[in-house]
This record gives sequence, C-alpha cells and structure tokens, in this order.
Amino acid sequence: MSQAVYLDYAATTPVDPAVVDVMVRHLGPEGTFANPASRSHLYGWLAEEAVENARRQVADVLNADPREIVWTSGATEANNLALKGVIEARGGGHVITGATEHKAVLDACKWLEQQGHAVTYLKPAADGRISPDSVEEALRDDTVLVSVMHANNETGVINDIEAIGGLCRERGVLFHTDAAQSVGKLSLDVQAMPVDLVSVCAHKVYGPKGIGALYVRRAPGVKVAAQIHGGGHERGMRSGTLPTHQIVGMGEAFALAAGQREEEGARIAALRDRLWQGISELEGVSINGGESPRLPGHLNVAFADVDGEMLLTAMNGVAVSSGSACTSASLEPSYVLKAMGVPDDLAHGSIRFSVGRFTTEADIESAVQNVIDVVKRLRKAG
Ligand SMILES: *Cc1c(COP(=O)(O)O)cnc(C)c1O
Repeated sequence: MSQAVYLDYAATTPVDPAVVDVMVRHLGPEGTFANPASRSHLYGWLAEEAVENARRQVADVLNADPREIVWTSGATEANNLALKGVIEARGGGHVITGATEHKAVLDACKWLEQQGHAVTYLKPAADGRISPDSVEEALRDDTVLVSVMHANNETGVINDIEAIGGLCRERGVLFHTDAAQSVGKLSLDVQAMPVDLVSVCAHKVYGPKGIGALYVRRAPGVKVAAQIHGGGHERGMRSGTLPTHQIVGMGEAFALAAGQREEEGARIAALRDRLWQGISELEGVSINGGESPRLPGHLNVAFADVDGEMLLTAMNGVAVSSGSACTSASLEPSYVLKAMGVPDDLAHGSIRFSVGRFTTEADIESAVQNVIDVVKRLRKAG
C-alpha cells in the first residue's frame, strides 16, 4: 500500500470496523446468511429480521417510515429508479435538473430525452448553488419532476433543497434529491422537508459499496415504475434477492453516522479548515464554491499557474481527486467547475481534498507540506 495520506473520502470511504463486524456476522455458515425472502425456515426469518432492522436504521436517519425505503445497489441505481420510474409512472412529462448533478442523474436525464421527454438543465450560480429562483422560472405546466442534489460531490456546496422543494410542492411537482454526499453529515428530515424522493448510498458514510436506497414518500403516495423486474421484491419497485450483509452494513453505518453527526462534522470541518489555512499560505489559490455553505469535509482548491495533471502526478503524498476527468481522447476540465464559470485552466488546476473519519492532524500537516512543496516546485519549473 502507498503511504499517501487518503484525502478522497468524497469518492468513497473505508468501511468502519464496527460495520465490518456486523457484515461478517451475516455471511458465513454460522451467520445470518439466508435469503430474507425464504419464509419456510428460521434461517430466512432471521435474515428478514436483520434486513427490516437495517431498514428502520436507514429510515430513522431520514425520519422516514421504513416502508418508504427501497433497497438498491447504490445511489446510481436509486437516481435511475427515481427519474425513470417517476416519468414512466406518469406517462411522461418535463423534468428540471441542475448542470452540476452527478452523472447518475445527468445520464438518466439524457436517456429520458432520447425517449422523447423534455429536460431543462439549470446553470448554477458562480458559487455552485442552484438558485430556487431559477427553478421557479423553469417550471412549466407539464413539469412533473425536479431533481436537485442536496450537496455536490465535487465542491461540497449545499443547495437550498427546502426552498426548491417548497416551490415544487406549491405547484404539485414531485421533488427528488440526490443525498449520496450529505446523508449522515447534514440533517435531512423528510417529515419537515418538502422532498418526495431521496437517493442515498452506504459507501460515502463508512458503509460498503454496492448498496443504497431510494426513499419514496407514502403520503401523499409517489408512484415509481420498477426498472428491474423479477421476483417482485421491495413492494414491486425493485426485484432481486436482498444482500443481507450489505444491507445490515448500511444500517449500521447510518446509525453510527447519525449518532455522532454533529461532533464528527465539527472535528472534520476543523481539520478541513486547517488544511485550507495551510494551503492558503501559497499565492494564487482559491476555493471553488467560495464561502457558500459546504459539507464539512470538502475542500476544492484552484491552483493558478500550475498544470493540473502535473500537480496530481507530483503530489504523491496525498490521495485526492482532480478537477479534470479523463475522457478517451483528452483531459476535460470538470463539467461541474465549468458550469460554475471556472475558467478551463483553473479547472484543470483544481484539486478536491476530502477529509473524513479516519483523518488525523498529522495527516493534515503532512498533506499541507506536500502540497506546498509540489506547487512551489512546479511553479518554479514552469
Ligand atoms: C457517489 C455518488 C453517487 C453514486 O453512488 P453509488 O452508490 O456509487 O452508485 C451519486 N450521486 C452522488 C452525489 C455521489 O456522490
């Protein structure tokens, strides 16, 4: 293993050891391994009980009814189910979303467009937020669904989903939010908030990859057409044998995160702020997203006058993500930063640092040193 400091918690997190423990107890021959849909023996009943316990743990974090939680393979599938499932159930209609959404929303929207449905992509403000006014202006008589993420994965910037959802509610339009980055970190109470559908996953909050859920409001009931057909699991919305070990892992991860949300958020934000304090001793650095409300762990920095690719390669003491995405032909600047109006050269020279549960002060000090050394060296050479 490399000795680099892991500061890429927004891409994925390690599974918390307490979560690993619970998962292992639901795998082997001595464990609760059975098919939760097996109704004819104790093995199956115990697995079902474990799944329903986890469903309550996940529902509790959203203040939802467990019957409103549909297991999926992750937030990508939850987003696909929400967008395609609602439009199919409604027999079509106009969709509004943001240009800064995760690809799982944007590509599902592109697919809907290919099927003949209209989609409006809203441009964010310079700070990365989708303004409620822009949503209001885009609403049409045939709009059936608005999908705006809670917090952005690249910048950590938080959208005012309460205001956006409120506008939708007034107009009888359904509101979906992708909360993959924010769940367990920000409060999202579906009884207090005007949201109808929420996508979440486990692996951004110290649970396993490959498991997530879609919250689907029961009152007033939201209809979602299944996108995966089979045995009629999950009240017909999503077929497939439930992965007991993944589900209990997600439940445990959510309960753990909720139990220490504020305390952990404060600790992580302090480390993130120390990281910025250290980096900001350099000239020509700025935060993408500026001073807007942000997730505690995110820090997306634009480094002027350095080549992003060289920066990323040279910074071998920290594991981070860049503001560029490799496409087959070239290095494209991040579409999120581009939509915010960040110039291409600055987007290329942008790095997303994301701090998490296992980050230490020593990690931050060593990351700061590495960043400063490398940027100074590259600028001198360039
Ligand atoms: C990680 C992420 C996803 C994808 O989730 P998976 O569980 O990996 O499919 C979707 N949306 C956002 C905002 C994310 O950060």
